[in-house]
Amino acid sequence: MKLAILSRAPRSYSTQRLRTAALDRGHDVKVLNTLRFSIDLSGDEPDLQFRGKPLSDYDAILPRIGNSITYFGTAVVRQFEQMDVYTPNPAYGITNSRDKLRATQILSRHSIGMPATAFVRDRADVIPAIEMVGGAPVVIKLLEGTQGIGVILAPDIKVAEAIIETLQSTKQQVLIQRFVKESKGRDIRALVVGDRVVAAMRRVAKGDEFRSNVHRGGSVERVELDEEFESTAVRAAQIMGLKVAGVDMLEGRDGPLVMEVNSSPGLEGIETATKLDVAGAIIDYIDNQVAFPQIDVRQRLSVSTGYGVAELLVHGDADIVGKTIGESGLGERDITVLTLNRGSRVIPNPRNSHTLQADDRLLCFGKLEEMRGMIPTRRKRRHRVKKLPKQPIHGED
Ligand code: ADP
Ligand code: MG
Repeated sequence: MKLAILSRAPRSYSTQRLRTAALDRGHDVKVLNTLRFSIDLSGDEPDLQFRGKPLSDYDAILPRIGNSITYFGTAVVRQFEQMDVYTPNPAYGITNSRDKLRATQILSRHSIGMPATAFVRDRADVIPAIEMVGGAPVVIKLLEGTQGIGVILAPDIKVAEAIIETLQSTKQQVLIQRFVKESKGRDIRALVVGDRVVAAMRRVAKGDEFRSNVHRGGSVERVELDEEFESTAVRAAQIMGLKVAGVDMLEGRDGPLVMEVNSSPGLEGIETATKLDVAGAIIDYIDNQVAFPQIDVRQRLSVSTGYGVAELLVHGDADIVGKTIGESGLGERDITVLTLNRGSRVIPNPRNSHTLQADDRLLCFGKLEEMRGMIPTRRKRRHRVKKLPKQPIHGED
């Protein structure tokens, strides 16, 4: 295949390893500076120029978009997508994962463990938010920090409030997050490629530092992940829309807590710690998937007027409970079931002989009018009952 690695750091360890891995496998590979593309929307079809000249044909790209050029970088990736060039990490996946708040919001409905997190704007909401995530000590994070810069541990509420106010006064947005003390300055970085973890390491913070980033002096060691950490990492990457991702997880009391998903994970630390060929795994995956460029299914399918994609809920009292998909009458109503979601299980292309159960969720393509009655009513929010601290009664012990 002909592959372009989009990177501004041609000499960095990661870019060099990816380039060499591609060459070793007989691919034609170029490292192209992301900032030297011109997005060309002047002709009949979306096009790109590179260094002022028409770009030759590529089968695939591997975007390595740094934090400082997210907007332009994702625009270039999106343009390749419009040109049907394969990318393991689409523009929306890179955008989703870059902003820690946006990533946490997207992951939050998929039963993936995460440290309790809050985001507020008004001064009056700061202290309640700190309490909402469990009180001090509390972690404060810039939305788009990396390498541990912009992650602060505030020992008490007063200091936390002062830090948040200072940052907000300089127009910096911050997350308020529970300090996962039991993780003890350690975290797990899992390198996800496609639907598996190809390498994982534990990072241990230096001295009394709580941030385990290698850039903050953290040390690394290879780990074998158990099934729960592995499936959490893979699911987090998939939900973000990334096929190549570095998923950071804390070791919480009750299992993995995802902190962030990185779309351009560094390879040096993890290859050194694990002695595994991560670059080779990435190139092999791209080579294997190159025939499947990104398709925005919803957008493409909606072009047929009156048809679309919807998620249908099998209500407990519906007459199709206990019937097979074949018997359900969905087919006669011109509704095709694409996937069946049962709890956290997903059955792709379920057969007609599959029996439907209450609470199954069916991702369907069909006539919107026919599907209207089966769209779930909005879930009722369960209001968490919070234990209020006992008010001291004056005059009593
Ligand atoms: P960055 O993008 O800067 O790497 P992270 O959210 O990954 O930001 O945080 C950096 C490091 O700080 C993590 O690797 C972890 O060691 C530590 N850390 C972050 N959030 C928490 C938390 N809520 N509780 C405990 N440690 C944390
Ligand atoms: Mg991190």
